[in-house]
Order: sequence, then structure tokens, then C-alpha cells
Amino acid sequence: MAECRGRNGVTKRRHKNRQQAEAAANKAASIIGKELHAYKCPNCGGWHLTSKQETTVKVQVPSSAKLRRKLQAYGALLAAQQRRFDESEAKLAAAKTKAEQENAEVLAALEVMSARSYGRRL
Ligand SMILES: [Zn+2]
Repeated sequence: MAECRGRNGVTKRRHKNRQQAEAAANKAASIIGKELHAYKCPNCGGWHLTSKQETTVKVQVPSSAKLRRKLQAYGALLAAQQRRFDESEAKLAAAKTKAEQENAEVLAALEVMSARSYGRRL
């Protein structure tokens, strides 16, 4: 039977059953002051200890349908954000155009006024 290793590469001690594993967990907890949990190993069928909260370690692989749904939801969110961005960009462009027009009108009016005053002086 292959040995099971933890994430740190250390061989995990295998216990025959839950009782033994929990007894070892309690003993370890009193020594290191850290709560340990027993879980049934899907790999070797024995029991190991973990500091993780779950008593069984499950590797949850989302289904492709679920991933596709998530991706679609994310895509919709992005599209909505893009739309809002485009709208604000359009508003900004319109405001800029309006400001430029007003500016041009003011400049034209100033030119007329200064031309008049020059005209009077000349
Ligand atoms: Zn194992």
C-alpha cells in the first residue's frame, strides 16, 4: 500500500480506524495545543489526522456545466460593466463637445467685442 504524504511531503501516519485516529488526535492536541481532526483517507482507506476543519477531506472539482454557468454569469457581468462604461464615455464625450461649443461661442463673442472696441478706437 502506498504511503500517504501531507502537503509538506512528510509521510502521514495511518490509523486503522476512527477511534484510533481520534485518540491520537486528542493526544497530539494535548501535546501541541492544536486541534486535530481525523479523516478517512480516500487514497489508502486508512485514517489520518489533519489540522483542517473538515473531518473528511474532499477535493471538489466543479462540473464543467457549473463552470460554464459561472463563466456565462461572469461574461454577462463584464458585458454590463462594458455597457455602463460605454454609456459614461458617451456622456463624457457629449459633455466635452458641449463645453467646446460653448467655449467657441464665448471666444467668438469676445472676438466680436474686441473687434468692436478696436473698431471704435481706430
Ligand atoms: Zn492515506
